Amino acid sequence: MKTIAWEVTFSGLPKTYKYCKKCKSKTEYISSELFRVNANQKNVDVWLIYRCNSCKSTWNMPIYQRINRLKLEQQELEQLMNNDSIIAKKYAMDYYLLKQQGAAPEVPEFSVNGDMPNGETVNIVLTGEYYMPLKISKIIRRKLGLSTQAYAELIASGMIVSCDGIDLYKGKFIQPTTIIIKT
Ligand SMILES: [Zn+2]
Repeated sequence: MKTIAWEVTFSGLPKTYKYCKKCKSKTEYISSELFRVNANQKNVDVWLIYRCNSCKSTWNMPIYQRINRLKLEQQELEQLMNNDSIIAKKYAMDYYLLKQQGAAPEVPEFSVNGDMPNGETVNIVLTGEYYMPLKISKIIRRKLGLSTQAYAELIASGMIVSCDGIDLYKGKFIQPTTIIIKT
C-alpha cells in the first residue's frame, strides 16, 4: 500500500490572551521574542517575555524554574541567552505551556501539506509542526474538503479507518498517527 505523509502547519503564533492588571481586562499579549535568563552556578530560571498589546506591560512566561544547570543542555542555554528566534517561536507555539501558565491561547489557522490520495487505497501518516489541540476530524475534513456529513458517511462505510484506534469523530490529533483511506 502506498504511504503518503501529511503535515499540519500553522500560519502564525497562537493569539495569546491574559488578564492585564493595568488595562483591567483580558488583552492580547504578544511575544517579544526575548528571553529573561537568570543563571547561577547551580540553577537556571528562564522566561519568555510577552507584552500587553494595549499598554505594553510585560508578562514573563515561565519556561524553566530553578532547573539544575546540568540538566539543561549547554546549546539550549546559549540559544536562550542569545534570544534565538527559532527557540522563541518554539515556546510561543507551545499551546499547552501557555495554558499551563495561565494564558488563554487560540489555535492558529492551519493547513495540511501533502499529496492527495489519487484513486488508490493509501496509508496516511499524519504529523504536525507543533502540538495543538485539534480534532482529527477537522484535519481530515479540511484536507479532503469534506462536509461533516460526507465525512461521517466515509467512516460509516469503512472508507476512512484509524490505525491507532483514535475516535475519528471526537478524537484529538496525536502525532504521529496513521489512517487508511480506501477507494
Ligand atoms: Zn495592558
